[in-house]
Amino acid sequence: MGKKKYLVIDVSRCHDCNNCFVSCKDEFFMNSWLPYSDEQPRHGPRWMNIERLERGQYPRVDVCYLPKPCQHCSPAPCAKAFPDIVTTREDGIVMLDTEKAKGQRGLVDVCPYGAIWYNEEKDVAQKCILCAHILDGNAGASICMPRCAHCCPTEALTYVEADEEAFAKRIAEEGLERYKSDFSDNGQVWYKNLYRFTKHFITGGLIKDGECADGVKVTLKGADAPEQLSGDYGDFRFDGLDPGTYAVLVDGKEIWSGTIAESLNIGNINI
Ligand code: SF4
Ligand code: SF4
Repeated sequence: MGKKKYLVIDVSRCHDCNNCFVSCKDEFFMNSWLPYSDEQPRHGPRWMNIERLERGQYPRVDVCYLPKPCQHCSPAPCAKAFPDIVTTREDGIVMLDTEKAKGQRGLVDVCPYGAIWYNEEKDVAQKCILCAHILDGNAGASICMPRCAHCCPTEALTYVEADEEAFAKRIAEEGLERYKSDFSDNGQVWYKNLYRFTKHFITGGLIKDGECADGVKVTLKGADAPEQLSGDYGDFRFDGLDPGTYAVLVDGKEIWSGTIAESLNIGNINI
């Protein structure tokens, strides 16, 4: 079996510069790559769409960005709904038939990731094709990787070509995850540090005798990684938490307990 093509996206490296979005537009606006894809309109569709999330409360907040192209799911919900239009290539890339997708607005609604867009100008449903035209060597490009990955200045987006076994090892070693894995737990797009977008934190600051209390042992009851030392400004942050009930202890004494449904700044605590 041949190698599969993957996009690995490190959420912690994305700064929302939008180079990926712009490079995707540049590749497809006024450029028809039929039969892979017809051109994109100038406005509207965002084949590489960057979602934004703010966690916590002032002044302890965390902002992160999730670049979200088609996830090239396996199996693909869109293929299940439109088996005559959607196909999955040997290398894992999910493609829409450019002729059969004409007039098929229903395709937009069947993607649980919101990754299929309707091109009103061309009257056709479209999405990210993982730059299959470039990867197949049919675009005259000197660099054989998706445009968005090539243009990412922080290496938040990495293109990977690997057999499934080797990539499974990488998934395990780097803790890669699928976004919204209840829709599709396999495919060609995998995320690193996804907790920044999908999990919560409990944060706060410690004060002793009117000064920031750094280097103090803080324990979180109810979590897997429950211990850390407060930082230079007395701050602590337990991240990657599910909604649930937790307690924060300083030197064994409980200073806060409660149930969180989202990230929480418990404020400054005198110890
Ligand atoms: S992300 Fe949406 S369009 Fe892409 S393969 Fe999955 S279901 Fe289909
Ligand atoms: S892989 Fe290509 S088509 Fe897909 S979002 Fe990136 S630039 Fe656009």
